[in-house]
Amino acid sequence: MTLPHPFNGRRAAIATMHGKEGAVSPVLSRWLGLHVERAEGVDTDALGTFTGEIARAGDMVEAARAKALLAIERTGASIGLGSEGAFGPHPVVPFLASGVEAIVLVDAENNHEIVAQRRTRTNYGFVTATPEEDFTPFLGRIGFPAHAVIVRPEACDDLFVVEKGVTDLRVLRAAVAGMSRRSSSGRALVQTDMRAHLNPTRMKTIHFVARALALRAARLCPACGAPGFGLVDVARGLPCAGCGAPTRKLLAELHGCRVCGHQEAKRQRAPSMRADPMWCDLCNP
Ligand SMILES: [Zn+2]
Ligand SMILES: [Zn+2]
Repeated sequence: MTLPHPFNGRRAAIATMHGKEGAVSPVLSRWLGLHVERAEGVDTDALGTFTGEIARAGDMVEAARAKALLAIERTGASIGLGSEGAFGPHPVVPFLASGVEAIVLVDAENNHEIVAQRRTRTNYGFVTATPEEDFTPFLGRIGFPAHAVIVRPEACDDLFVVEKGVTDLRVLRAAVAGMSRRSSSGRALVQTDMRAHLNPTRMKTIHFVARALALRAARLCPACGAPGFGLVDVARGLPCAGCGAPTRKLLAELHGCRVCGHQEAKRQRAPSMRADPMWCDLCNP
């Protein structure tokens, strides 16, 4: 007989205005036995939005944690969930957009939290346009109208001048005309609306990260039984095949528990294994 998961039968709340519970709840319910409900009346947009009117406080895990704590506060559930995404140019590959998506689970009863964070595919993008220009190739690339866009003046001091959630081409053309008139550059800025309920690509990504969170939570610490045992660090220093000096290549993964601090080395390389000298600072400086 296997014992039920520590989260089994517990009540959790998710703070979202954008229908994310549909992407998060089923997998946590199926794998962990968590009952996830939506925290009503939590204005997650007040914590920062994707369109720049309200500056975000702290990094994204912190922002997701703030939402999770708000969900606990509003509902009295002992577990809170918060999700947060960030989008922009890919840090390594030029001209490619990239997204990072995080979900934080806060267990207030046990002063514990589990974080899942992944870099993901995204359709994030923007273009500037005048009403006379053809911006439909951009719309094709981002998957409009299944994916909504936001329109604002390209250059304008008032950041609150913005039309969000546009999914109709006629409405979009009218918005581009109106916003370019209000822009000192005479151009409108059309960008992807990254709110989950208006961006199916992002919703799929949130589902993917929710699975990663469930997977992480499903692993219990072998020492204390707390959920969320997993990768916390890596050990580097695989010896160089040429000179034997430690290289930057992986020796092992370190898996750990946030509650009791227990750690185990996983996927340890065989003692006979050596790294290609191309990874060695001495042989290949
Ligand atoms: Zn532990
Ligand atoms: Zn070497």
